[in-house]
Amino acid sequence: MLFVSLPHPRFLTRHIPSFVGIELRLDLFPTLDLDEIAKAIQTRPTLLTLRRTNLRTEAEREKWIETLLVLKPAYLDLEWDMAPLFLEKMISQYPETKFVLSYHNFETLPEDLEDLYRRMNRYNVFTYKIAAHTRSTNEALQLLLFAKTHPKTSVICMGERGSFGRVLGPIVGNRIDFACLDERSKTAPGQLTLDELVNVYRYQSLNRETAIYGLIGNPIEKSPGHLYHNRAFFEKKLNAVYVKMSLLENELDTFMALAKKIAIRGLSVTIPLKEHVLLFAATEQERIGALNTLAIADEKIRGINTDGSGALDAIEQIQSVKNKKIVILGAGGTARGIAFEAKKRGACLTILNRTLKRAEDLAAELDGKSGSLSEVPSGYDILINTTPNSMPISSNQIRPNTLVLDVIYSPKETPLIKEALLKNCRIVYGEEMYVKQAQRQTAFWISNEKTNSS
Ligand code: NAP
Repeated sequence: MLFVSLPHPRFLTRHIPSFVGIELRLDLFPTLDLDEIAKAIQTRPTLLTLRRTNLRTEAEREKWIETLLVLKPAYLDLEWDMAPLFLEKMISQYPETKFVLSYHNFETLPEDLEDLYRRMNRYNVFTYKIAAHTRSTNEALQLLLFAKTHPKTSVICMGERGSFGRVLGPIVGNRIDFACLDERSKTAPGQLTLDELVNVYRYQSLNRETAIYGLIGNPIEKSPGHLYHNRAFFEKKLNAVYVKMSLLENELDTFMALAKKIAIRGLSVTIPLKEHVLLFAATEQERIGALNTLAIADEKIRGINTDGSGALDAIEQIQSVKNKKIVILGAGGTARGIAFEAKKRGACLTILNRTLKRAEDLAAELDGKSGSLSEVPSGYDILINTTPNSMPISSNQIRPNTLVLDVIYSPKETPLIKEALLKNCRIVYGEEMYVKQAQRQTAFWISNEKTNSS
């Protein structure tokens, strides 16, 4: 059951989809009005929560909880460290209410989750809720794995880096999950809005069989991957979800081990991990030296690079690159993917980069020319910016009436693109390349799923 947390009674009038329950955070309400609470309970499954605050003594809180239970709420939250006798009495006296026995740690992931579970498990309740601050993607995955293997557990990954974990609750067996109504009404760090959970991640259709896909890298905030891939899964009627996981190089080893355990089926890989993932995956594109797509099955990981084919597919919607002179700005992972694919499709390449040596090395592999960013040749047909710098050359180096691709997708119109438009150039936007390379990722994942099931 997904609950939307309401920190104030004024939110009771808001429209909330019928399959979503409400959690009344009564400890945040200015006053406790029993008539108002009773009315809310009649409308939909309601979880009543009255956390410890300075406003009431523990004895007063216990009294309030008993009063609330008389209203027969569908769910009620009891903190696991309340007096054992009180907990036992409430649980046995109010069998019509489903109790959520909750543990919160706003600082860290507890080291001994097993011990915590054992101590919570002595109470016969609907679910053991373990909400802990997860400082990294790997900590969030550890907590999610715990839910997968411990009955009746619902884990909540608090903190921005664990935020993706809030999507995966139904897949690891959570009995309850939480969303906020909007950004302003968040009641816990990293909480997602109801709109995101329902309309982007389709929380209501996730279950234990849902395949997990995602993006790894850093930074990932601007990536539209969750919007694109979840829509694509929906349109293709696939029981799959895609989440964004922030990951650094030194976390990759542990992540790969956890990814296999939790059965992540596929990954998009972005800056700075495209080269590092080569260590983990079998690929036929080793020469490119960078992968942006992984498929994981039966302990085996296969990788491909769709950056190059995505960029070239987008360009060739406008013009063929065969025998055309292409200037590539940058010599990083994306540039490598694009350069190899362009060469394969018959283009003549010039690679220009801030660090000259990298441009020289890449050009040498592809029989191309190289130089620094100030050395843009005057005669070229296509200019491709693969650096994160949205204006890496001066405007007088952009040749009129040529074709320009900037891989940056946010903002859509970079300074480079604006200048190119003024010079009557045809434009391929970063988002067009994004869609093309993402389509190839989906196709790769689907073919991998088919190979597994056959
Ligand atoms: P990368 O491997 O780190 O390479 C970055 C390249 O940009 C290097 O050549 C680097 O030069 C150069 N560079 C970095 N900062 C620069 C600056 N301030 N001025 C000039 N050059 C600079 O990164 P990547 O994985 O290739 O990703 C590059 C960009 O492509 C990212 O913005 C990413 O979001 C975007 N991207 C877009 C799509 C899409 O579908 N539209 C797909 C993939 C990537 P040095 O060698 O001198 O460091």
